[in-house]
Amino acid sequence: MLRSGSMRTIAEAVRSMLPAFETLGDEEIPLTRAAGRYLASDFVAVADSPPFDNSAMDGYAVRAAEVAAASAKNPVRLRVRGESRAGGDMPTELEPGTVCRIFTGAPMPPGADAVVIQEDTKQDHETVHIFEPSTGGRHVRARGSDLRTGETILRRGDRLWPGEIGLLASQNVARVCVYRQPRVALLSTGDELKALGDELAPGTIVNSNVYVLSEMLSLLGAIPQPLPASSDDLSSIEAALRKALEADVVITMGGVSVGAYDLVQEAFRRVGIDLEFWKVRIKPGKPLTFGQHQGKPVIGLPGNPISAMVTFEILVAPCLRQMLGDREPHPQPVIARLQHAYHRRPGRVEIARGVATRRGGEIEVSLHEHQGSGSLPSFVGVNALVILPSDRADLEAGAEVDAILWGSGLRGSQSFFDAVS
Ligand code: AMP
Ligand code: MG
Repeated sequence: MLRSGSMRTIAEAVRSMLPAFETLGDEEIPLTRAAGRYLASDFVAVADSPPFDNSAMDGYAVRAAEVAAASAKNPVRLRVRGESRAGGDMPTELEPGTVCRIFTGAPMPPGADAVVIQEDTKQDHETVHIFEPSTGGRHVRARGSDLRTGETILRRGDRLWPGEIGLLASQNVARVCVYRQPRVALLSTGDELKALGDELAPGTIVNSNVYVLSEMLSLLGAIPQPLPASSDDLSSIEAALRKALEADVVITMGGVSVGAYDLVQEAFRRVGIDLEFWKVRIKPGKPLTFGQHQGKPVIGLPGNPISAMVTFEILVAPCLRQMLGDREPHPQPVIARLQHAYHRRPGRVEIARGVATRRGGEIEVSLHEHQGSGSLPSFVGVNALVILPSDRADLEAGAEVDAILWGSGLRGSQSFFDAVS
């Protein structure tokens, strides 16, 4: 066993894990399946945007010089010749002394350099009266004014959200080059564990962790590969680990503590996993274990459901984000104010489950009453993981704490309607 001298702070643990989580190379996939993926190369515009000069408004395409002196008192009268509408035929050259009826998104006729909006005109048969002056370029979306062919518009490591997908679609890009998603083997250990739906004999429980971790991995963008739970038996764990090592990352759950049936570390050693540390100054989740097998990261999460979720989110998720291609894999805590006093034992950084809301310009957070490491109900409705520093025992009501927004984030109809009314 590694000695307790190898106990790391959270920061030390994450820093020593990160180098093992390099990106996995790239693959080309359809844009329609690329949401949430990370670009593996810069993207250079292949077309001007907009692709042609077009009207920003409904109105009349004009030669600006011909309407420069228009006013309500002295309207300019011009003949209406032809029409340009979005998706219609390309308009022909605008003859001097005429205007072209035009609609939003429609190509500008050659020779026209401005659009007079419909509201500043009155049409009478073939003639339009123009009541406002215009200048060149007014209400025209010029070709290339958003971006020009050759400009770098997305960078390696950018995550593709709907906006980025829209940009690529507008460039007529049907396939994109993204980083491969790590396949993460999930190996639960424990004689007591049953699969969902199995009959629960006395003394057995559902292997809930594997369902939680599968979802957490999917939300990150990694591919969970749940394996059948292993019994608390060295050779079973060893065999399961060898199978798990076919994936890009291995996560085990349970069996990393000091009990007689905590055999995971011994199994790690037997299959040739080099242990780097065991124990992190985090509450809950102290016995977190990390090692590598020929450069492949292997993480031993504690089995307690809350410990497993918290240590995954705080220590493992940033590493996996880096592996997925994220340039900024670490969460940015917000400052929140505790709604109530909280007394605790100092010594380890505590990650407490809380519910955050906004009050005025501040975020307030209340901690769940049950902060025990096994209490799954304490995760219901949680939208903040509150970081309580290792050196503070008594936190008074109103104390400032760092919190990582989580799950559904901040919600509230009052502040929403205040903001938008
Ligand atoms: P361990 O880390 O193996 O000592 O387990 C600590 C506690 O977590 C025990 O109460 C286990 O029954 C429970 N536990 C371990 N693995 C899981 C799992 N995969 N799903 C739910 N509970 C678990
Ligand atoms: Mg166990």
